[in-house]
Amino acid sequence: MPCPTTDLIHHPYVPPAEFAAPQPGVFKASTVIFPNVAAMRSREWRDKSGYTYGLHGTPTTFILEERLAAIEGGLQCLLVPSGLAAIANVALSLLRSGDEVLIPDNAYGPNKTLARGELQAWGIRHRFYDPMDPADLAAQIGEHTRLVWLEAPGSVTLEFPDLVEQVRTCRARGVTTALDNTWGAGLAFDPFDLGTLDAPLAVDISVHALTKYPSGGGDVLMGSIVTRDDALHQRLKMTHMRLGLGVGANDAEVLLRSLPSMSLRYRAHDASARALARWCQGRPEFVQVLHPALAGSPGHAHWAALCARGEPERPGRAAGLFSVVIDPRYTQAQVDAFCDALRLFKLGYSWGGPMSLVVPYELAQMRVRWPAHLQRGTLVRFSAGLEDVADLQADLEQALVAAFAA
Ligand SMILES: *Cc1c(COP(=O)(O)O)cnc(C)c1O
Repeated sequence: MPCPTTDLIHHPYVPPAEFAAPQPGVFKASTVIFPNVAAMRSREWRDKSGYTYGLHGTPTTFILEERLAAIEGGLQCLLVPSGLAAIANVALSLLRSGDEVLIPDNAYGPNKTLARGELQAWGIRHRFYDPMDPADLAAQIGEHTRLVWLEAPGSVTLEFPDLVEQVRTCRARGVTTALDNTWGAGLAFDPFDLGTLDAPLAVDISVHALTKYPSGGGDVLMGSIVTRDDALHQRLKMTHMRLGLGVGANDAEVLLRSLPSMSLRYRAHDASARALARWCQGRPEFVQVLHPALAGSPGHAHWAALCARGEPERPGRAAGLFSVVIDPRYTQAQVDAFCDALRLFKLGYSWGGPMSLVVPYELAQMRVRWPAHLQRGTLVRFSAGLEDVADLQADLEQALVAAFAA
């Protein structure tokens, strides 16, 4: 069977008659004209069999949804204006007053902020569980738990959980699972194929910040919600419709243009991040380097089992992110000076574009408790872009000398 990247490039598209260009057209519309009242009444957008209004989909968004679902191994997809909107759409669809949602303590920060803000104000409770202790997740699932968020690896600290065990636990308790799959991008592992032939296992929902690798340019904000269950998809879709979450045709066009090269870019980001993370391991300024593909990094065995499975001779896949814990003997001012001294790594949020980025984090304020597997110190996260890796390494080295040479 061809690999998903090949399928993606050859995904069926029917151009207008005698205009056999392989790239899909960019259709823009609010209004769609119907030939008569009967057509207006009978046309159905929910199953993509027809077009009724721009907000409910265009040929451009439908084809992008199909391709994204295929990459992640799903069957249905919804597009939303950002990765965070995807998280919010899932929460607003599935949670009611009195319900409870469980979120890993290392989740993407704004997911936790949403739980503490709107969800709490609407009577929806939340708990943060220890992502590295499946027993803690099992213990926290209660009779009101309706949704469990999963993230592999965690944001910023990049520890890789036992995702398979977590999903199994939630399945056994009948609780819906939603994975934030932005890091894996549908390339590092298959969220809907986590089990074996004899014992299939899948998450219920995979959300993805298309802002990152699918866009690849640092110029588009978009999110997706992929499922394999039609009833669940319809539920999410009705919330999506009631909230009016449309995406722009030009943004969809950029995504369609970028997707075929995503797998190549992902590999390049991966190779650079691993090389730089290994180099950082040899530096005395860092007491810990966090990258799930490095032996000794928290959750490395879980990463290896999931992301390098079936290909022992190959290195497995990982995104272009790594973090370092800077020795606590250095002051915050020195750490700030290190980040300021970087020339190629720019200070900025998000990741997935061609430019390397760096963000210093105050971890103590981001976690319920300091994770036992993390050394004490100041955490700095890097996103390796597509620059030459030797240039990136030289940049790290000059900034370390500038900031820490006493
Ligand atoms: C960036 C990111 C998001 C949010 O995406 P936006 O499009 O910026 O809203 C969600 N989850 C993870 C893990 C992310 O890295």
